[in-house]
Amino acid sequence: MVPGSSHSSSQTWFGKSVAPGESVNSELLITESYSSRDVGISLRVIRGLRDGPTVFVSGALHGDEINGTGAIRSLIADNDLQLTAGTVVLIPVLNVLGFERHSRYLPDRRDLNRCFPGNASGSMATRMAKVIFDAIVRRCDYGVDLHTAAVRRTNYPNVRADFRNPDCMRLAEAFGAGVILDGKGPKGSLRREATLADCPTIVVEGGEVWKVEPSIVECMRRGVLNVLKKLEMMEGDPELPIGQVKIRQTKWIRAERGGFMDLHVSPGSTVTAGQPIATNSTLVHQDQNQLLAPFDGIVIGMSTLPAVQPGEPVVHLGRLAGAKSARRVEKHSQADEVQRTAQEHLSTNIQIVDPN
Ligand SMILES: [Zn+2]
Repeated sequence: MVPGSSHSSSQTWFGKSVAPGESVNSELLITESYSSRDVGISLRVIRGLRDGPTVFVSGALHGDEINGTGAIRSLIADNDLQLTAGTVVLIPVLNVLGFERHSRYLPDRRDLNRCFPGNASGSMATRMAKVIFDAIVRRCDYGVDLHTAAVRRTNYPNVRADFRNPDCMRLAEAFGAGVILDGKGPKGSLRREATLADCPTIVVEGGEVWKVEPSIVECMRRGVLNVLKKLEMMEGDPELPIGQVKIRQTKWIRAERGGFMDLHVSPGSTVTAGQPIATNSTLVHQDQNQLLAPFDGIVIGMSTLPAVQPGEPVVHLGRLAGAKSARRVEKHSQADEVQRTAQEHLSTNIQIVDPN
């Protein structure tokens, strides 16, 4: 508390004072570089005039996944994020050292997103995780962590949340990506450990590495604003799709033969059991085999590289409750401009051909 203040007082974020109604840039020092320089995470802290929850929104926890960085930067640049209550901590790049190398990993080849809640006397990665966890996560009530698919893959926008945690579900539904996948996240991941530490956190996946894709940025921007509206930190109601689908089971459909894939589906497509999803042929177009959908589902991710060897992932399918559910999901996503645009944009990146 600031002496003499009776209500919402000034907060301090890494040495910078942030009064109610203020928006301030700050920096969290997390390590030192090989050349003895301080290495810090740049962030923006925005406060509403009234008291309320504290929420972090992070991008590039995997240093090459920068769609979230683009979304957060656009939220910082424009005037849409008018906070009336609480505090938002916007972190465009959480994994600064990975980001500097355009890499998912830290220079010691560790995945920062498997190192939470961290260890002050452990490896470089776990020490950084510890600083982030103690300085940011433990001060927050909720979190939204923005990701993309890994290299050579793309994801249709989806939210990942622990269905057994009502607070996570509330955030996931409020985000409004249209597709919500069940799971606690891997051990040591930010969202799993943050949720365990009483900061319910969701992950959002969309698009590819090394890109800021306009349709994914739009989905992530809308989602973050929706969450803040749901938590009554902003005025207005969340802008939600007319229906969202919850998925409990997903499966990677993998190549059986080495060869070149003709893909028959695009990110966000719904499929029915037995439908051809990709045909594998040799470089001179002799047919090898066809991959069929094992169940009624929706394409939540796929490879962007058509050359495959046996066992390599081709299409990531989320299981739907049946053909009727697939038709309903299709109708709902087509009725939502953000989802429809994402589906259109992502499909232009991949050559889709009709099966023979
Ligand atoms: Zn990631």
